[in-house]
Amino acid sequence: MSTNTTSIDRYAVFGHPIKHSKSPRIHRLFAEQTGQSLHYEAREVTPEQFLSAVNAFFAEGGKGLNCTVPLKELAFAFAGRTTPRAGFSKAVNTLALQPDGSILGDNTDGQGLVTDLVRNHALNLENTKILILGAGGASRGILGPLIEQAPAEVVIANRTTGKAVGLAAEFAELGAIRGCGFDDLNGLEFDLILNATSASLSGQLPPLPENLLAEHGSCYDLAYGNEPTAFVRWGQAHRAVKSLDGLGMLVEQAAEAFYLWRGVRPETRPVIEWLNAERNDREFP
Ligand code: NDP
Repeated sequence: MSTNTTSIDRYAVFGHPIKHSKSPRIHRLFAEQTGQSLHYEAREVTPEQFLSAVNAFFAEGGKGLNCTVPLKELAFAFAGRTTPRAGFSKAVNTLALQPDGSILGDNTDGQGLVTDLVRNHALNLENTKILILGAGGASRGILGPLIEQAPAEVVIANRTTGKAVGLAAEFAELGAIRGCGFDDLNGLEFDLILNATSASLSGQLPPLPENLLAEHGSCYDLAYGNEPTAFVRWGQAHRAVKSLDGLGMLVEQAAEAFYLWRGVRPETRPVIEWLNAERNDREFP
């Protein structure tokens, strides 16, 4: 691919920290696979720098941006217009320059998660009991697309109980959803447990009762790393049928953004395989 960044369409991911982001690699693989000519880079941007950085990026001809921790709420406030799913989540991870010069904000995280669960891992969410651990930005982003899968019930449990209760109340009109603290989980059982806390990033686990996972249930950690996260290991130790991490979600949310920007849907499976092979220190098949 050409490295002449002045003549080709430019994209970027802003975040803090951003050094270890896999997004430039993912979008480069998508571009190669689909024959699209574009340049995508990662930029370290703090919340204080966000507004001037995003304005400068689009003023200099940038076509689209991904925004990650801790910038998604700021990106939501910046977008002139948002998709319904971003409006619900009040967080934006994708900004796209529109033909009329306006900036559209979208949130592709929830669809990315659902695609990974349902299509890549063949999990049927209909009529299931789902537990979401954590009530931060990621939980907010995944709730709408999860509820669209028609689960029997969604429970959000959070360290700060009030945040879980408040978040559940915001989404209550969409389906059976309630919020609680970790202590309230005793005696309950779920078919799918999603870890959307940032505890994994520091190798920690929320306090979880022993019998929380139903027989034949599965676990999914939105976080990912080169080694299985603490929550993926918890799932394995509790006989989860599948205990997965968020690498597939990362690739799927990127594919949704790529589609929004380029109108072309990349194939995600080879990219997930490539990244999996890389972290398992194997040669790409
Ligand atoms: P936020 O900072 O918005 O929220 C963090 C959440 O984690 C809060 O609910 C917080 O609880 C909880 N928490 C933090 N530390 C602990 C702990 N030690 N024990 C229990 N709960 C804890 O983060 P995000 O929602 O943006 O991100 C959450 C996770 O999702 C991250 O690991 C992130 O990497 C991952 N993610 C993955 C994506 C992917 O594509 N795979 C996409 C988006 C996010 P409290 O409210 O009490 O502070």
